[in-house]
Amino acid sequence: MKKMTTRTTVLMQKQPLKQKQFLVSGSAPAELLSVCRYCSSEAVPVIQVSRGTLIVTNSVCVNGHLSIWKSQSSYNSLPWSNLMTATAIMLSGCNATSVLRMFDHLSVQMFSMRTYNRLQSLYVSPAATMAWDAEQSSLLDQLRGTDVILGGDARCDSPGYSAKYGSYTLMDLQTKKILDFQLIQSNEVKGSTHMELEGLKRALGFLKDYVNIKEVVTDRHSSIKKYMRISQGDKKHLFDVWHVSKGVLKKLEAASKKSGGKDIRPWIKSIVNHIYWISSSCGMDGSVLYKRMKAVVESKFLLTDVPKLSPVYQTYALEVFHSVVNNFAPKSTHFFYSSMLARLCVAALYYNENCNRDRAFTKDGVQCFSLVYPKAKKGKEAVVKSRPSPATYDYVLLIKQAVVSRREHDCSSYSNAAGDVEILQNHFPVSLTQTFEPFQKADLIARHRSRFQR
Ligand SMILES: [Zn+2]
Repeated sequence: MKKMTTRTTVLMQKQPLKQKQFLVSGSAPAELLSVCRYCSSEAVPVIQVSRGTLIVTNSVCVNGHLSIWKSQSSYNSLPWSNLMTATAIMLSGCNATSVLRMFDHLSVQMFSMRTYNRLQSLYVSPAATMAWDAEQSSLLDQLRGTDVILGGDARCDSPGYSAKYGSYTLMDLQTKKILDFQLIQSNEVKGSTHMELEGLKRALGFLKDYVNIKEVVTDRHSSIKKYMRISQGDKKHLFDVWHVSKGVLKKLEAASKKSGGKDIRPWIKSIVNHIYWISSSCGMDGSVLYKRMKAVVESKFLLTDVPKLSPVYQTYALEVFHSVVNNFAPKSTHFFYSSMLARLCVAALYYNENCNRDRAFTKDGVQCFSLVYPKAKKGKEAVVKSRPSPATYDYVLLIKQAVVSRREHDCSSYSNAAGDVEILQNHFPVSLTQTFEPFQKADLIARHRSRFQR
């Protein structure tokens, strides 16, 4: 009997965040609505309004009784499920075009892409950004005045030099929490290659007011090295071992591909391992090994950097974060600045909530492992890895609450919300297309036709 009561409560619940949603076929409400609720005679329901996920039906019976039924509640004429669907699309990192197509394939009534973009820019993105701001403030309050070792790394939204956005992330390497990230659009700097340095500058500039930055571990880009030496000389600048060894690996592989170079091949693995060993066994003071290294790899740049290999803290966790970002903002999808920023915020919230997960155990206390085939072994070897406990999504509820409260209180109409967003976006960079030459589509079509009809 208890189970029945729970079910009844769920259906009666009216708060948008606590409501359960069901996929209901059109004929099911039609069956309910074909009996007049006043006189029980036959009635004919017709859909009067269909707005995204909402339908409103009118049924008139033979005795002229009219009843109106709504499939969900709205706030100031915006159906809650429209807003919550748009929220869920962004929070799950999905591509809206694919999701809308999926609903179309499923014949589920859904809003258009235009409505999605509007809901996203007016409600979802601002709520996600504010949720990250709140998380960041509380993190920095806890760390205020303490010494920190930061790891920094950049992510570009496309490989090579044509990236539209670059983001730079600074992580507290002791707690693995992301403390700050900066999103840079390519037109804010001289070119996309300058985005990394600009991101680092902004992030360090922001964090210096909260924490004492003792060390910064990054890759070995020459502009970063120069900037850290000249402008951030009070901080120890160290290099991430993986980045250094990856650079060496690439150079050695290139050398081994030249004619007569194949004898280098067998050495590559041990040289790369050696770099790891140098960093962990002697860190800053590797003078003997330094000479041995010189015998193997004659590179001036590398040799000056070996003493600066970071002995303890590496930036591997930042690579993990970047793969999380790829889940929330796939490189193959184009995003406007505000939604790219919001998706980065969601990725950072997910990462900070889940970066220090415990190992998973069964109900009986047995540790859970996953079987993994290392890629390099091509299926010839397998290992087990301890499985982390399932991810949690507390931040999702926080953002959903922020979305609902934004609609209910501060921005209860599209025009209110648009005014608010305009203020928020005042400090966003000018969109790339605004700086492009204006072309008339009709002219281009005419030119295309004249060229191909000849
Ligand atoms: Zn009736």
